[in-house]
Amino acid sequence: MPRSTLAQAAKDVARRLEQLARVSDERGATTRTFLSPAMRRANALVGGWMRGAGLSVREDAAGNLIGRLPGPSRGSKTLLMGSHLDTVRDAGRFDGALGVLLPIAALGAARDRGLRLPFAVEVLGFSEEEGVRFSSAYLGSRAYAGRLRKSDLGLRDPDGVCVAQALSEHNGRSRPLPKPAHARGELLGYLEVHIEQGPVLESRGLAAGVVPAIAGQTRARVSFTGRAGHAGTTPMSLRRDALAGAAEFILEVEAFAGRRPPLVATVGRVSAHPGAANVIAGAAELTLDVRHPSDKARRAAFAGLRRAGRTIAGRRGLVFAATVTQDDGAVLCSRELTALLERSVRARQGRSLRIPSGAGHDAVVLASLAPVAMLFVRCRGGLSHHPDEFVSTGDIAVALEVVVDFLARLASEHPR
Ligand SMILES: [Zn+2]
Repeated sequence: MPRSTLAQAAKDVARRLEQLARVSDERGATTRTFLSPAMRRANALVGGWMRGAGLSVREDAAGNLIGRLPGPSRGSKTLLMGSHLDTVRDAGRFDGALGVLLPIAALGAARDRGLRLPFAVEVLGFSEEEGVRFSSAYLGSRAYAGRLRKSDLGLRDPDGVCVAQALSEHNGRSRPLPKPAHARGELLGYLEVHIEQGPVLESRGLAAGVVPAIAGQTRARVSFTGRAGHAGTTPMSLRRDALAGAAEFILEVEAFAGRRPPLVATVGRVSAHPGAANVIAGAAELTLDVRHPSDKARRAAFAGLRRAGRTIAGRRGLVFAATVTQDDGAVLCSRELTALLERSVRARQGRSLRIPSGAGHDAVVLASLAPVAMLFVRCRGGLSHHPDEFVSTGDIAVALEVVVDFLARLASEHPR
């Protein structure tokens, strides 16, 4: 297919992303949260683009937008492609939306190229991934995969509205918990195109790379307890300074992870009590976030950091405690689909790069329903969740060509 046609299609995607970014619940910023008025308008806009590409469009009970291109026969298997249409507050225009608009353009480009797909395709715009409204992520993809739990329906937003209420207001009636949209055997896989949200591709001078695995996460609340005291009258040798212990621990977390790539570990928040300039801190609380593509390595790292915390506390006469608040396993992407995607990336840019995803994505949930693969696209400075988030139109064209090539390879491997 001529590069000029793809370049034009990429420009169309860039223009649509700009247009979609103006669909917002807030004036002057891009904000779309689960089942909000802006999400309704976003689904109408994107649904129109899906229809234009020949897809039949519907919305499921959880507000997910689904565009379907039928296969050649009733028993045809289905390939899923998509990402989320909700955003964080004051978001950029690429996170999520790129992974919905790019597949629509890829199907158009494949058709123009005369590619007849021997399978059905569903393009998905998930209604909730960011966890903004109900402080719980993946509500959209979990509903699609039939993994919404009864307890999720009781979650409340800051206005006191619960998920069940929001859903029935959105649908005009209450419905039971959604069932999985597909049986696993019906699906070929799920491909998610997403901005990298990190600096690796940019540092290697590459437009696109593949994701072999999505890291698991352990989050914990950590505390050091010592004894508060007067900053003027307590000699240094008699102190049990909880904040100094916490400081030593923070540096140890950094050094520990630094010696064990691709492990990443972060203390993102710290508070001292009583928190006065002239009082030695009697207690310090911190958050700890540990991520690794291997669950075994992540658990070992967390155990190691816990031991390090105890050692530091013991030496300083402090008490150390760590409570796990979140523990999500890693998700391995499909070896077959990833290898195929890698060939498409190599065909376009000469080489490919495997980047484990440190951030969670809808693919984490879809992995319970189908084999998954992810394509990462370079974003400027690795910046995301910010209005300055940026992907060049040239890089969109590369990703588009990769996805069209992937569809062609998948079609040629598929039994007709
Ligand atoms: Zn995202």
